[in-house]
Amino acid sequence: MKDFYELETISMGTIITQKIYGENSQKAALKVEEEIKKLESLMSFFLETSEISKINRNAGLNAVEVSADVLYVLNRAKYFSEVSSGAFDITIGPVAKLWGIFTDKAKIPSQEEITSSLKFTGHRDITIDNSLGSVKLEKVGESIDLGAIAKGYAADKAIEIYKQYNIDSAFVNLGGNVMVLGTKPDGSPWKIGIQNPLLRRDLCLGAVHAVNKTIVTSGDYVRYLQKNNKKYHHILDPRTGYPSDSGLISTTIVSEKSIGADAISTAIFVLGLEDGVKLVNSLKDMEAIFITEDKEIHVTEGLKKDFHFFDEVEGFIYKI
Ligand code: ADP
Ligand code: MG
Repeated sequence: MKDFYELETISMGTIITQKIYGENSQKAALKVEEEIKKLESLMSFFLETSEISKINRNAGLNAVEVSADVLYVLNRAKYFSEVSSGAFDITIGPVAKLWGIFTDKAKIPSQEEITSSLKFTGHRDITIDNSLGSVKLEKVGESIDLGAIAKGYAADKAIEIYKQYNIDSAFVNLGGNVMVLGTKPDGSPWKIGIQNPLLRRDLCLGAVHAVNKTIVTSGDYVRYLQKNNKKYHHILDPRTGYPSDSGLISTTIVSEKSIGADAISTAIFVLGLEDGVKLVNSLKDMEAIFITEDKEIHVTEGLKKDFHFFDEVEGFIYKI
């Protein structure tokens, strides 16, 4: 058995990379791949056979029995909607569909279309019966989209599996949702790059040094439609139905659990710097990096010792 194993998988609409050290590395990687594919088949908005699609088809009609995984993610999603005053909202589906930002049919909808699709959103319309293990959307036309939280849950699952296989050093990246177990094999912290949001992928403006942490970034550069000199990106403000315009171009959460990091990185992107900082400071075990369209970088207090700004990155200012 090899001591190091690296695996790339396409799933959940992204490339998933695992780097694992230790005796069971290959077995653990394959098990994680299998688990992620299982989660995708349960949670995809696009697969007709997923439990999420079943809930969506039964909106306004019936409660649908779901697996423990889906039940857990929906309970957490509702919690993150509440703490973020609705900035994070998995019922954004009808609005996301209208914009089509994740498809090849992206377009700018009319105000009328946006106003009417907003009537079919609202996290309070998700009714969960935990004793029956069932979920219902209250109105016909409503839908759930776990695109902003499922990868975080999958990252947590990956780390659980590594532990079951006695791995003590591993890295997993689900398209920007990074999570690390332990240190690097040489005992030093993992160094996770924070992308320069103004440049093409993989050029970083800083790095977070991390041990047993998750680092999740939401950015306006990931998927977007460019029209009339304006960027229409894929993170929507549930209050307006438009791509959020809060003055931020990238937000990162550093935490011990990836499900919350994924949800809150999306939420603070919508909330903006001031409310975002307040939210992060009100939550246990969360630190954040905010990058504004004015090229300012703001880092919460508890993360300053682990965030390393690359001074040579032109134009960006690290606000201490
Ligand atoms: P990514 O998955 O691209 O890294 P996010 O985690 O920020 O980025 O999730 C964005 C995805 O979540 C969108 O593609 C859309 O499906 C959905 N979404 C958009 N806006 C919101 C929102 N305010 N709350 C919850 N989900 C959202
Ligand atoms: Mg997210």
